[in-house]
Amino acid sequence: MESLWNDSEAEAFQGDLGLRVYTSRLLGRDKTLVMHGGGNTSVKLRETSLTGKEEDILYVKGSGWDLETIAEAGFSPVKMAPLLELAKLAALSDAQMANELRCNLTRADAPMPSVEAILHAVLPYKYVDHTHADAFIAVSNSPDGEHVIRELYGDLVVVVPYIMPGFKLAHLVAQTFPTHVKKQTIGLALLHHGLFSFGQTAKESYERMIDLVNRAEQYLQQHNAWHIAFPAAPPLTETVALEIARVRKQLSDIAGYPMLLHMQRDDQTLAFATRADLRAVSQQGPATPDHVLRTKRLPLVGRDVHSFAAAYKQYFDHHVFRTRQHLTMLDAAPRVILDEEWGMSLVGRSMKDIAITNEIYRHTIDIILRATALGGWTALADGDIFDVEYWDLEQAKLNSAAQPPMFAGEIALVTGAASGIGRACAESLLARGAAVVGVDINPAIGETFKRPDFLGIQGDVGDENALLGALEAGVRHFGGLDMLILNAGVFPNSTPIDMLTLADWDRVMRVNLDANLVLLREAHALLKLAPNNGRVVIVASKNVPAPGKGQAAYSASKAALTQMGRVAALEWGADHIRVNIVHPNMVFDTALWTPELLHERAKSYGMTVHHYKTNNVLHSEVHSHDVGEVVAELCGPRFAKTTGAQIPIDGGNERVI
Ligand code: ZN
Repeated sequence: MESLWNDSEAEAFQGDLGLRVYTSRLLGRDKTLVMHGGGNTSVKLRETSLTGKEEDILYVKGSGWDLETIAEAGFSPVKMAPLLELAKLAALSDAQMANELRCNLTRADAPMPSVEAILHAVLPYKYVDHTHADAFIAVSNSPDGEHVIRELYGDLVVVVPYIMPGFKLAHLVAQTFPTHVKKQTIGLALLHHGLFSFGQTAKESYERMIDLVNRAEQYLQQHNAWHIAFPAAPPLTETVALEIARVRKQLSDIAGYPMLLHMQRDDQTLAFATRADLRAVSQQGPATPDHVLRTKRLPLVGRDVHSFAAAYKQYFDHHVFRTRQHLTMLDAAPRVILDEEWGMSLVGRSMKDIAITNEIYRHTIDIILRATALGGWTALADGDIFDVEYWDLEQAKLNSAAQPPMFAGEIALVTGAASGIGRACAESLLARGAAVVGVDINPAIGETFKRPDFLGIQGDVGDENALLGALEAGVRHFGGLDMLILNAGVFPNSTPIDMLTLADWDRVMRVNLDANLVLLREAHALLKLAPNNGRVVIVASKNVPAPGKGQAAYSASKAALTQMGRVAALEWGADHIRVNIVHPNMVFDTALWTPELLHERAKSYGMTVHHYKTNNVLHSEVHSHDVGEVVAELCGPRFAKTTGAQIPIDGGNERVI
């Protein structure tokens, strides 16, 4: 590991706090040091108050900020003097500590200071850095870890046995540090937890951290425990969508709300999941205690979700009894699943949560394998992990998250999602928290939405294999299917019946009708497993109730599709799957309608473009977005009792009314 300090980069950061921001970001840039809100840093500054009083202020990382992206506003200024007094107390409850930290801020709108604020205050150095470095944890969590750490660092660090983070840790360090510190001491080694370093400048403290981590890295290298090779994973060739959706349904039922299940099958995860000693190494605990909030204490090995939930309940009951606290159990669903065929799968309510869990567990795999190479992986006892998992302050962090959106944890598939109405449907579903699989013949579908909760798949809906492949890929990526939006279609050039060839007719039927039969047929089993019941919305056309000349094939295809949807509503009612139909008309903001074409059409009716676009009962223009919003709402709880309905979205049409 090398120092990332760069003089010209550092010049952009002004003053002591500015440099604190800079080196905090350097730590955050390296995921082997800290991940996702982990770790914390501080700087002590002397400031003059409005009334002229000089005082020492601790600028410590605020909760909710990530070191990689932290700014000056992310550091909470807390008065040092009261913190040093608090550290002397024999005990301080979480609620009391939170209250004291907030009451001693010098900026009312500052974020809540880190739970390690008092520890930062008692270390008598200007800059203090704290990480959960992979290399250090691998050494610390191996047999004889404490002995090795003491040998490795000597007087460079004060070794602190594991104790609950927060006040207890700060109190212990306040009491013991002064008697253990030596002239050459540059940090603390917190066994089973992480490292602290300190210094008089931002650069010194940061580079001391790098130095401390490097010593652990070198130790691993010397003991052939650094480089881990994974054999290449063979591809998963069979169809597994239905089995994945079944597991996801069980997970969601246990959690009490829909969850995404995201497969990450590659060299690293498959090699780990197929180890002969997988149960022994994976069923011990997380690498560092605060990972428990993202990964739960243990991953599920295999697919028996119910046994996992029963064991989790037992663990909870046991420790509630031990701690004699009144606690509410978190949901009992796993967040990481290790399976010898699937590799690793992550469970979460959003792809954002899943990305964090994924990164943390990949580092956990490396740490476990390195410690195993040193002779064995030994995590903290389950009681210590429980105390952090059910720590008031950590619970508060999770509970402060806003109410999840309408479709959190749910998955929709939209055909023809690269443009027009399909794109608008995907947008409206994403805006309500759904993960969306978009299928389109246009290769731009891959880039239609650049976000982790959208998966674009290029494919011709007229090709049965392409549809089957899209369903399989979508389920592997998100875990199942809750909503199906049948939108893709072709609108051929106007042709009177006496000129209509069978080939033209077939082409329209294949895309507008046959493709949707395949999708409905294949999606049915998946929709039956939707935790909040399956929903289908068919985008038909005004041409169904009010056909136009020259569009026999189009009108017939959409009418047949509508009729198929009505039959599906009848057949699938017993499975609680709702099927509804929308009939849009005069939607001009699609790829079909160029400004030239609009102009030409308007002129042929002797109208202005504006008049042409609003030539309906309500005199209002209909946008793709209007259709997308109705489609999304039809999938939502307000329409929970509606199936088989046909809704016009056309600004009002006299022939339809
Ligand atoms: Zn920590």
